[in-house]
Amino acid sequence: LSCIIARINPCSNLPFTTPTESDLESSLIRSSLMTLNLDGHFSFDDVHHAARDFGNRYHFLPCTILRPESVSDIATTIKHIFHMGPSSALTVAARGHGHSLQGQSQAHGGVVINMESLNEPAMRVHAGELPYVDVSGGELWINILHENLKYGLAPKSWTDYLHLTVGGTLSNAGISGQAFRHGPQLSNVYQLEVVTGKGEVMNCSDNQNADLFYSVLGGLGQFGIITRARIALEPAPKMVKWIRVLYSNFSIFAKDQEYLTSAKNTFDYIEGFVIINKTGLLNNWRLSFNPQDPVQASRFNSDGRTLFCLEMAKNFNPDETDTMNQEVESLLSQLSYIPSTLFLTEVSYLEFLDRVHISEKKLRSKGLWEVPHPWLNLLIPRTRIHKFAEVVFGNILTDTSNGPILIYPLNKSKWDSRTSVVTPEEETFYLVAFLSSAMPSSTGTDGLEHILIQNKRILDFCERAHLGMKQYLPHYTNQEEWRAHFGPRWESFVQKKSAYDPLAILAPGQKIFRKAI
Ligand code: FAD
Repeated sequence: LSCIIARINPCSNLPFTTPTESDLESSLIRSSLMTLNLDGHFSFDDVHHAARDFGNRYHFLPCTILRPESVSDIATTIKHIFHMGPSSALTVAARGHGHSLQGQSQAHGGVVINMESLNEPAMRVHAGELPYVDVSGGELWINILHENLKYGLAPKSWTDYLHLTVGGTLSNAGISGQAFRHGPQLSNVYQLEVVTGKGEVMNCSDNQNADLFYSVLGGLGQFGIITRARIALEPAPKMVKWIRVLYSNFSIFAKDQEYLTSAKNTFDYIEGFVIINKTGLLNNWRLSFNPQDPVQASRFNSDGRTLFCLEMAKNFNPDETDTMNQEVESLLSQLSYIPSTLFLTEVSYLEFLDRVHISEKKLRSKGLWEVPHPWLNLLIPRTRIHKFAEVVFGNILTDTSNGPILIYPLNKSKWDSRTSVVTPEEETFYLVAFLSSAMPSSTGTDGLEHILIQNKRILDFCERAHLGMKQYLPHYTNQEEWRAHFGPRWESFVQKKSAYDPLAILAPGQKIFRKAI
C-alpha cells in the first residue's frame, strides 16, 4: 500500500480524475478493507454519487463508500486506516447529505462514509424541564422536526433548509433567523459522541472532554466524526405569523434590523434580503404570500430600484392569536418600512421551517436544482456593513436574478468563543449570503464564469477595504489562506489537529491539511 498516492490537486475541478496509481493498488485497498468485520458494508461500484455535491463544481472520486450500520463500523474503519500509518494516502470523509459547495465532503481516492446509513442511536426525545433529543450524526434536521413535533417540542435554532444532516451543519455553525436569539445550532448542543482520527469513540460535552467538544463544533470535520448529538429543545408553537416589508434605504433597513435583533420583546425569527433591479417582483411574491391589502400592494412598483426586504416571524398558538397580533402591530409600528409594502400571512410551524423545500421541488421540476452553485457566504462586521452595501449592492452587482442575497445581523455573544468557528471581532456582524445558481453552458451574466468573477470582485473589495470579513462555509485552496482565515487561532487549530487526527485522515475535502505520506 505504500506506493498508493492519491494525487490531490487542490485547484483542480476536472470531473472524475483517476484516483489511484493502478488497478492493482485499488484492489489492494479493497481487499484490505474487506477484511474488516462490520455490521454495514463497503460499496465499490456506485462511488460516482459521492463525487458530487450541491455546489456541483468539484468532483473527486473516492475509492469506496462505507455504509455504516453502527458507530463501531466507523471506528473500526478509521482505526484500520490509522494503523496503516503515514505510508498510506487513504483519507476519510464523512458525507452528511452532500450539500457542501466545493467538495468538502469528498475524499479523492479515499473512503466516503455515508452518514445517513448510520442506524444508531434511534432518535429519542426526552421531555422534562430541560428537554433534549438524542440523534445520530447522520440524521436530517427535517426528520428531527417531524419526530419532535409529535411531543410538542422542537429544536431552537435552525438552518433555512432542513434537508441537511446534524453532523454537516454542526461542523460549520448552522445559522438562520433564530440565531440572533438562540445562537447558531452549535450553541444548542449539550453533548456529542465523536470518532476521532485515531478511531477512538469519545463522549464529550462542556464537562467531559470539553476540548474535543468545542473543537468539533464548527471544526469543519477536522477532529472527529460526529456520530451522536444531544440537541436542546423547546416547546414548539403550532403557527407562525410570517411578515415581509420593504425599504429603499439601506441605512434605515439596517437600523430597523438591528433594533429588532437587540430588543428584548421582539420577533422569533429575523432575516432579510436584497433585491437589485429585479422585475416582476410582486408576481413572484404572490406565489408564497397573500398581501394583506392587494390593492395597495399592487400600486407599488419595484422595477429598476434596489430594495431591502426585512423578513420576520412571530410564533404563536391559536388561542394566543389576539395577543400575538397586538405584539406584532406594536413592533411593526416602530419600524420605518415603505408603508404600502406590508405582506403578511399565517402558516403552520412545520410549513414555515420547511419553506425552502417547496422552492426545491419547483426548481427540481424545472431541472434547475442540480446546476452549479457558486455560493459565497460572508460575515461582515456591523461598523463596515454600510460601506460593504454601498460598494457591493451599488457598484459590483447589477441585478439579483441569479439567486437570493440574504442579509441579517447576528450577535457574537450568542456564539461560544470556545468552538472552532471563526467570526468577525465585533459584537454584531452580518451574514451576507450570495446564493447564486449558474446556468450550465451559459456564457452570459447567468453563467458560472461571470458569477465567479463577481464573487472574486466582492472578495477583493473586502480585502482592499480591510473590512475584517470572515467567510462562513469557508473555502480556501492553500494553507496560507487558511492561516489567515483562523488568524491568531491558527496555532491552536493545528495543535488540536495533531491531538485528534495526527495523520490528517479526516475531511480532506476542506483542503486545510494534507495527509503526510
Ligand atoms: P456535507 O456536505 O455532507 O458535509 C459538510 C462537511 O461536514 C464535510 O467536510 C463533511 O466531511 C463534514 N461532515 C459531514 N457529516 C459529518 C459528521 N457527522 N461529523 C463530522 N463531520 C461531518 N447553512 C446554514 O448555516 N444555514 C442555512 O440556512 C443553510 N442553508 C442551506 C441551504 C441549501 C440549499 C444548502 C445546499 C446548504 C445550506 N447551508 C446552510 C449550508 C449547509 O449547512 C452546509 O453546506 C452543510 O455542511 C451541509 O450539510 P450536509 O449534511 O449536506 O453536509
